[in-house]
Amino acid sequence: MKGSITRSVRRPRKCRLVAALLAATLASAAGAETMVLRHFTLIDGTGRAPVADQALVAVDGKLTWVGPTSRLRAPAGATVEDLRGKYVLPGLIDSHVHLGLVDGITQDLKFQTRESIERQLHLYAAYGITSVQALGTEKDLIFPIRDAERATRPDMARVFTAGQGVVFKGSYGGVPGLDQSVATPEDARRMVDAEAAKNVDVIKLWVDDEFGALASRMPSAISRAVIDEAHKHDKKAVAHIFYYDNAAELTREGVNGFAHEVRDRPMDAALLGQMKAKGVWQMAATLSREASFTYTTLPFLKDPFFSRGVTPEVLTALASPERAQKLGAAPNFPKYAPTLRYAMQNFAAEAKAGIRYGMGTDSGPTARFPGYFAHWELELMVKAGVTPLQALTAATGSNAEFLGAKDIGTVEVGKWADLLVLDKNPVADIRNTRSIHEVFVAGRKVPTIWQICTGRPAGACGKKR
Ligand SMILES: [Zn+2]
Repeated sequence: MKGSITRSVRRPRKCRLVAALLAATLASAAGAETMVLRHFTLIDGTGRAPVADQALVAVDGKLTWVGPTSRLRAPAGATVEDLRGKYVLPGLIDSHVHLGLVDGITQDLKFQTRESIERQLHLYAAYGITSVQALGTEKDLIFPIRDAERATRPDMARVFTAGQGVVFKGSYGGVPGLDQSVATPEDARRMVDAEAAKNVDVIKLWVDDEFGALASRMPSAISRAVIDEAHKHDKKAVAHIFYYDNAAELTREGVNGFAHEVRDRPMDAALLGQMKAKGVWQMAATLSREASFTYTTLPFLKDPFFSRGVTPEVLTALASPERAQKLGAAPNFPKYAPTLRYAMQNFAAEAKAGIRYGMGTDSGPTARFPGYFAHWELELMVKAGVTPLQALTAATGSNAEFLGAKDIGTVEVGKWADLLVLDKNPVADIRNTRSIHEVFVAGRKVPTIWQICTGRPAGACGKKR
């Protein structure tokens, strides 16, 4: 017994030595960039409980060693940083965003440019969101941005994209200005083929009628064609849903994930059981989206963690009494509170039923803010009924698993050093994800939200709280 324990301890040590020597050799040979972080508490994204006094080594942005600081052998020439008292997590992943749709709070596809998209990807990274999945309203200019990131070490959030999602003609979904509606199953298959040919990461479809305001939702003959064609191309199909009945139908059709919760009524054991049996994920609960609609004036305008990320003009517009009056008078306004309640209740029921879930916000359309909403989403997930550790795992390891992204999402050897370093323990209080100390993308520090002050001179936003 003792012998086997000794062996199992010794073998990794040898491997580590070899790995460290190899890393050091490579470092001197190729001028590699070697970084060591040590003495932090690790929350690794796999769901494992936090582990104290850990260390890591990253070479050229990728993790080559992770373990207790006591066993660390820092390669020669490495930059070493002590993170005593800090918490290191994988960078967060937002599985449901839309990029470059707004200028301030004015939404129009004409604002979608390489510059506006990259500005948002930098903002996501500043909030510790080091990867995002854009869900179906991006022009083709998203592909060169994504491909350039994948060819190098990016300094902003990594992009995954559905390209243009599939909308049934006349029903809800998509954005004005993008040609993305189909009328027949044949059209739908052709569109999926075209998106697959652009090498999208996932196929998106919308099944909704905006509280019954529109004449129809995507018929099952079309959703079935979209899902089937996606699978032929080895892509997952994720659906915007609202209604229980559509969720049940899409589950029968083999959809891979939902980009929102069922929000018209409580989910029952029958649907939960079918989702579980078919392996359907609740990829994004978008609780922050639903919550944002319940306010006529957003409750966080004075929160520096929010206000640093937007211009003074946006703050003024959001605080305007005219805006509040208009939002409160909208016919759908009274529907949003029950919608949020169903979303939270159904998310909790899914988690309890053992259905897999990620973390996604649907930020990007007007007044749904990149980065900030992900932290709000985590808080709402916990409020709904999962633990902080479960919410963090959803946003890291689980999201990466759903995306099929093998090199992000956890702090493990072989992954990119996309890291979120916090001052306070997020497992003790999920709101501590806001105590951002540092953010690394591919092993390099990027400016955090506490170091930027959008649209104002540096320093005008005051100190970190
Ligand atoms: Zn969306």
